[in-house]
Amino acid sequence: MVDLKGQYQDIQAQVDAKIKEVIASSSFIKGPEVQEFEKELANYLQVKHVISCANGTDALQIAMMGLNLKPGDEVITVDFTFAATVEVIALLGLTPVLIDVDPDTFNMDTNALQKAITPKTKAIVPVHLFGQCANMEVILSIANEHNLHVIEDTAQAIGADFTFSNGVCKKAGTMGIVGTTSFFPSKNLGAYGDGGALFTDDDTLAKKLRSIVNHGMSKRYYYDRIGVNSRLDSLQAAVLRIKLPLLDSYAKARQKAADFYDKAFENCERITTPKRSDFSTHVFHQYTLKINGINRDSLHEFLKDNSIPNAIYYPVPLHQQKAYKHFKFNKERLGVTIDLCKTVLSLPMHTELDTEQLNYITNKIIAFTNK
Ligand SMILES: *Cc1c(COP(=O)(O)O)cnc(C)c1O
Repeated sequence: MVDLKGQYQDIQAQVDAKIKEVIASSSFIKGPEVQEFEKELANYLQVKHVISCANGTDALQIAMMGLNLKPGDEVITVDFTFAATVEVIALLGLTPVLIDVDPDTFNMDTNALQKAITPKTKAIVPVHLFGQCANMEVILSIANEHNLHVIEDTAQAIGADFTFSNGVCKKAGTMGIVGTTSFFPSKNLGAYGDGGALFTDDDTLAKKLRSIVNHGMSKRYYYDRIGVNSRLDSLQAAVLRIKLPLLDSYAKARQKAADFYDKAFENCERITTPKRSDFSTHVFHQYTLKINGINRDSLHEFLKDNSIPNAIYYPVPLHQQKAYKHFKFNKERLGVTIDLCKTVLSLPMHTELDTEQLNYITNKIIAFTNK
């Protein structure tokens, strides 16, 4: 699904030299690399504060801690996402409210959002799934109307641009009160291990988040609040500093592969290619098809037999997962997610796909689905 080795080879000399330098400096934790990376990412995103942490799941948890969400508060997010989003809501004793997604963009259904709001709702967590922003203009206006926090889960969409109807353009993760991301190796900006970050323009919140990631400490050994231990280490920051300037070119390579797939499947009745919304660019963390008229799982098996990597994101809606079943969800309103879990299939998507590989993949798929 990804080719991390190929991508590394292009930057190997730089990465190897930098890693040696960091080791020689012995500044493994909270070193200058981490501070520089935070500044550079803030500059790239055009946001005031970047607070790095250990992974994208922690980033979500820390965001919710920073916003003072309390047990019993309802947090609305989508049923069609990676488990981390709902996991941290549950871990903090908050009540997850799972809503459906738009069948074409896979992102939060804003009509469903409107319907899900109750007097207990405190926050909304839109997930910019597969590399494309959710409809933030509508989500932010609903949030403003009801005085709710918006936490953007940007783990899959770092670098995507959202354009508001007044022409203002913002990076994914910088529109809500706080945005979170992950530097897991296979994410669009991947480290060589775990990593994550939070973004915010709010000075007070930034200060608080910075204290929470470091045990709730304000001054050394003085604790103002209960925090966690969640750090990005210097080696990961050093790798990310090398890759950040390449992020836009990585997105271009992904978009080029997506264009190839789009064109190849243009006339395939049984394949629906991913929709690109007009308000957001798409950085294609995943390239996800919908398969209709034939059994998706038989295609999945066929591709496996032909050594074509492919994956099902996601095979089971979160509301049906054993771990989350005890929450009361409105199943009747989650039909799109239930349907998507049966029909989606993601194809190899990374920065190193060449025409030969793309031809092989698409020809095999077309031959199978036209049978
Ligand atoms: C990967 C991911 C996360 C979690 O990131 P980790 O760094 O693996 O903890 C959270 N949300 C979404 C949507 C993700 O894809």
